[in-house]
Amino acid sequence: MHSFHYRDSQLHCEDVDLAQVAQEFGTPLYVYSAGTILDHYQRLDAAIAPLDHLICYAVKANSNRAILKLLADAGASFDIVSGGELFRVLAAGGDPAKCTFAGVGKSHEEIEYALEQRVYSFNVESEAELDDIDQIAASKGTRAPVALRVNPDVDVATHEYISTGKSENKFGIALDHAAAVCERAAKMRNIDIVGVQMHIGSQINETRPFVEAIKKVAPLVLELKSKYGIKFFSVGGGVGIVYESSFVSGSSSWWKEQAPARHQLSIQQYVDAILPPLREVKLRILLEPGRLLVGNAGVLLTRVRYLKQTGRKKFAIVDAGMNDLIRPALYHSYHEIVPVAEPSTSTKRDEMDIVGPVCETGDFFARDRKMPVLREGDLLAIMSAGAYGFVMASNYNSRPLPVEALVRGDKFELIRKRQTWEDLIHDEL
Ligand SMILES: *Cc1c(COP(=O)(O)O)cnc(C)c1O
Repeated sequence: MHSFHYRDSQLHCEDVDLAQVAQEFGTPLYVYSAGTILDHYQRLDAAIAPLDHLICYAVKANSNRAILKLLADAGASFDIVSGGELFRVLAAGGDPAKCTFAGVGKSHEEIEYALEQRVYSFNVESEAELDDIDQIAASKGTRAPVALRVNPDVDVATHEYISTGKSENKFGIALDHAAAVCERAAKMRNIDIVGVQMHIGSQINETRPFVEAIKKVAPLVLELKSKYGIKFFSVGGGVGIVYESSFVSGSSSWWKEQAPARHQLSIQQYVDAILPPLREVKLRILLEPGRLLVGNAGVLLTRVRYLKQTGRKKFAIVDAGMNDLIRPALYHSYHEIVPVAEPSTSTKRDEMDIVGPVCETGDFFARDRKMPVLREGDLLAIMSAGAYGFVMASNYNSRPLPVEALVRGDKFELIRKRQTWEDLIHDEL
């Protein structure tokens, strides 16, 4: 579900005309739907309700404080991967006791900070890290709650950069080694073993790898439960969303002729599949969704600056670039792109590349894409940009970061102002 649709021939987010938001705040501009995020959170929460659970939103997917506050107010817990993310969660009014701290390379300073704030658990990914956490906890006269992140070695059909559960990936501790690591950890003075964690990758659209991984790890979970009384089993995030489909509803049939909708794993299907094996471990279950909650809840608005033809090829050069949304360049990912003013059914189509102004051939949003005929100044929405969008933005080419806005019902507000050129040099000495 998402709340982007045409109404009166204008693309709306909930009850707000996106052209109006772009008019007010300028482009490039991310717009998020609070209603969509909350709907996803609440549906997941309801589906997993038969089990004692925490939904730990993966902050790295979209870490704007307004989004974190929205989820904290809804009762969410958080999955953080840095001290900076913990700082953000606290700044948004989140509870550190509901934060799990993941990541393969936590620094001394980050571990200290997380201990001081008393996070729910450290997800430990190596023995060296375990030693460090034990020592730092000892130096602070405290104990560290630790969950072992295991690598279940399952194959996932996703982009190689976002597959994390294969034995050749840098993540986690090999499953057959985990019990031995736990035995060592149990002897450490300042470590409490509280859980087992896994995360097999991202943008996964089938239930098989999730179920397979849970079944592979469950015996270890049961063993550690009886030996050390662990409290939870975290099954990570990774549920995929639809990027490629004609899912923007409107009055004209224009979009319905586009590519057929790809298979999407629904929240209910996902939970229905993982529930039976999870019931058997009889422990608190942690889910760590990122993309699933926010991905389809955001769009990147951009304006067509120039149209250009070279040889046979047509280009629409827009004012957003790879520095604003890097997913197409980094993962070759597909994003649906639609005009904010709805094209009529009879609108001609043109095949074109939609590219940014950055000096890189990799700076594209779409290649050889059939689009309605565009004019300079047209406003476009790059769909499904709510996850791994703004958070990966940079100042490359000395371009100010894009701005962000949040819609609730018929209201919208700026949640990140536009940087100035002064901001670009502000921190340089
Ligand atoms: C990135 C990450 C997630 C979230 O992944 P999504 O695909 O966005 O759901 C969850 N857990 C861990 C440990 C992660 O690194």
